[in-house]
Amino acid sequence: MAQPKRKHSKSRTNKRRSAYKLTAPALVACPRCHQLMKPHNVCPTCGYYNGKEIVEIKEI
Ligand SMILES: [Zn+2]
Repeated sequence: MAQPKRKHSKSRTNKRRSAYKLTAPALVACPRCHQLMKPHNVCPTCGYYNGKEIVEIKEI
């Protein structure tokens, strides 16, 4: 198999790794219960999506 001719420099490795970073998750307020939730997902607090109850949330 073909092999790399030279070892990558630390600088090159570090430049590549400089692109790795965490991003904050996108969150929107639920229009029904106003809790933060992920967009385009059923609300985990009230179980509604697009004005309809999709899943029933049981109180514990
Ligand atoms: Zn909700």
